[in-house]
Amino acid sequence: MSRLRAIARPRFRLLLVAVVALASMLTAGVVWAESSAQGDGCYTWNRDLASGATGDDVKQLQIRVFGYPEYGKQLAVDGQFGPATTAAVKRFQQAYGLSQTGKGDAATYAKFYELQDDDCTPIHFTYAELNDCNSDWSGGKVSAAEAKANALRVMWSLEAMRHALGDKPITVTSGFRSVQCNNNAGGASDSQHLYGRSADLGAGPHSLCTLAKEARSHGFMGIFGPGYDGHDDHTHADIRSTQAWSAPDCGVRKMAPGAVKHP
Ligand SMILES: [Zn+2]
Repeated sequence: MSRLRAIARPRFRLLLVAVVALASMLTAGVVWAESSAQGDGCYTWNRDLASGATGDDVKQLQIRVFGYPEYGKQLAVDGQFGPATTAAVKRFQQAYGLSQTGKGDAATYAKFYELQDDDCTPIHFTYAELNDCNSDWSGGKVSAAEAKANALRVMWSLEAMRHALGDKPITVTSGFRSVQCNNNAGGASDSQHLYGRSADLGAGPHSLCTLAKEARSHGFMGIFGPGYDGHDDHTHADIRSTQAWSAPDCGVRKMAPGAVKHP
């Protein structure tokens, strides 16, 4: 300080400005490093998101809350933050005891980071679990990349369902199938499994009916379970776009007009 006082006033001011600027740059650097360290190998959000926002970061958020649509509905993953996304974010926040802002904010992102693995799958489900046919996702009715993208949404729906049912395990017995694999399994020729959109769920901590009923609230537009032909030993859930529900023994029955039944 004594050395600074010795410097002529204008030069001292200049030095002070430089020191303050340097200090704020350092502070900014520290803050940036901390916030990016909160993310992981998957994806890091760099801004808050609210209704009206558009972009890939909105799309990434929509995938994380894909399991939180309105009952019987499905959330569009379109990169447009509209009312349905706001409502889904609020349901997600409520499910995890966060403040229901309806926005992508620090607390919400922190929960996403906690729930996602480095490959962007939710922590309780894996790509391997969703593909019992091969490891490269080839041979289905869509490209490997599309099949994997569909399976990722299925997994985020399952993660939401798992949490809603008290955080007990949910077992996937069949997911994506190549055409050959689907034929071997005796699946329908245009099965949703060929697109990576399906998960067959086995009984475990939850009954097949509990799974079929709960699936209605998490974006699964296709649900087939006990009482439906060939589905007494598993509950099939898929993310097709038009509703087709049939698990008569569970009281689950609803078909949109023109809905294609085959699971
Ligand atoms: Zn199935």
